[in-house]
Amino acid sequence: MKRNRKVKILATLGPASSDEQMIQKLHEAGADLFRINMSHASHDVMRTLVQRIRAVEARCGRPIGILGDLQGPKLRVGKFADGKVELKVGQTFTLDNKDEPGDSTRVFLPHPEILEAVKPGHRLLIDDGKLHLRAEKTDGKSIVTTVVAGTKISDRKGVSLPDTLLAVGVLTDKDRSDLDALLATGEFDWVALSFVQRPEDLAEVRKIARGRVGLMSKIEKPQALERIDEIIELSDALMVARGDLGVEMPLESVPGLQKQLTRACRRAGKPVVVATQMLESMISAPVPTRAEVSDVATAVFEGADAIMLSAESASGEYPVEAVSTMASIASNVERDPHYSSIIYAQRTPPEATGADAISLAAHQIAETLRLSAIVCYTSSGTTGLRAARERPQVPIIALSPIVQTARRLSVVWGLHCVVTEDATDLDDMVNRACRIVAHEGFGKPGERVIISAGVPLGTPGATNMLRIAYIGSDGMSGI
Ligand code: PGA
Ligand code: MN
Repeated sequence: MKRNRKVKILATLGPASSDEQMIQKLHEAGADLFRINMSHASHDVMRTLVQRIRAVEARCGRPIGILGDLQGPKLRVGKFADGKVELKVGQTFTLDNKDEPGDSTRVFLPHPEILEAVKPGHRLLIDDGKLHLRAEKTDGKSIVTTVVAGTKISDRKGVSLPDTLLAVGVLTDKDRSDLDALLATGEFDWVALSFVQRPEDLAEVRKIARGRVGLMSKIEKPQALERIDEIIELSDALMVARGDLGVEMPLESVPGLQKQLTRACRRAGKPVVVATQMLESMISAPVPTRAEVSDVATAVFEGADAIMLSAESASGEYPVEAVSTMASIASNVERDPHYSSIIYAQRTPPEATGADAISLAAHQIAETLRLSAIVCYTSSGTTGLRAARERPQVPIIALSPIVQTARRLSVVWGLHCVVTEDATDLDDMVNRACRIVAHEGFGKPGERVIISAGVPLGTPGATNMLRIAYIGSDGMSGI
C-alpha cells in the first residue's frame, strides 16, 4: 500500500474503533500508527488491541507503529457529598488531606506531595481551566484558595498547576504497572510520557525501557518548555499535547509554541506529533469545520511528522471519516504549490556527520537528476531519521532488516519503510533497492534512484556511500 503523502497519521483507538475490521478500515483510510491510551484501556483491552493491530499489519503488509500513552501524574480532586457543588467568585475554598466527601467550603486532594508543593499565589485550574482558584495560604496539609473565576466543581475533576514545579516523578504507580504490561507484550514501538517536566524524567523511564521502545515526551507543562532543548535531546520524539498545554499556558500562546516545537524537533531530527482537537467537531459530525481543516493544514505546512486524532477516532461517531478527512487535507496541502517552498524555507543546515552530508547530497542529486526515489538502508533507524530531516520532495524508501525499526519509523515524515534482509554485497544492495522501489510503486523501469548505505554493509551508524542506479526492465538494477 503506497500513500501519496509525507505527513503521517496517528489514530487513537478506543470503544469506537476496537474491533479488527474497524482497525483495518482506519489503516486503509490512512492511519499509519495507532495510539492506545492507558488512561482508559485496561491491560486486557490493551493486549487485545495490540493483537488486532498486528493481525491487520500481517494482512496489509505494511509496518504499523503502536504507541502506548501513559496517563502520567494527572491530578484529581476527591468526591463531593452531593457529587458537585456551586461556588461563588471571591469566596474561600480549601483543598486538604482529609479523605471525606467535600462541600462548598472544602474538598479532599488525594496528593500529599501537591499539598506541599503549592505556594501562595499559585494558580489551581480545575476541570480544564473552567474553575480558577488562587492559593492564598498553605501549610503542607491544606491549601486555602480564593475562587477567581468559574463556579462549578464536581467529583474527581482534574487539577492543573501551571505555576508549581511538582516534586513528583513522571511515572505514577499506575504508569509503572502499565509500562511493565505494555513492555511485556514486546509489540510496542513508542511510549508517550504525559506531563514531562524535567530532563531527569526521561532518564528514569529510559532505564526501565532499555531501548525496547522509543520515548515520546508530551509537552503539556510550562516547566517542560523552560528546559526544552535538554528534553528534546533526551527524547526520541515529541508530542505537542495541545489539550493540556492549552490549560496550563494561555490558549493563545499554543500556536506559537507549536511552531517553536516543530522547528526545534526538525533541527534535532526528532519526530514531532501535533495532537488534540484537530478535527474535534467530527466526533459528532461527518464533516469538519473550516477552522479545523485550516488547523490540520497548518501542521502539515509546518512539516510536522505526524498529526493525531484523539476522541475523533477513539470514541466519535465517524472514526473512518475523520482519518480519511485528515488524509485528504494532508495530501491536498502537500500538492499545493506553496508547500515545498514553505518546507524548504524551514530547512536546517546539516550537522558535520557522514549521515547528514550524505542525506543532503542524496536530496540534491535526487532533485537535480529528477530521480524517482531516495533509498536508504537503515538498521537502527538513524539514517532514516536524518534522511527525513532533509524533507526532500522525492519519496524516501527506508529499508531495514529489523521489523521494529520499520515500525518505529512509521511516525516519521516522508519515510516509506520496507523490511528486507541486509544485502549480501554491493550488487545485491543495488538490485534489492531497485526491485523494492519498483515493487512498491515508486519507480518504473528506465527511471533512476539514489541509494545511500554504509559499507561494510550492516555496520550501524556508518552511512558513507551514495550510488545512482537505473531500474532495469526486470525491476532489478540496469547497471
Ligand atoms: P491526552 O494528551 O489526550 O492524553 O491528555 C494530549 C493532550 O493533552 O493534548
Ligand atoms: Mn494531556
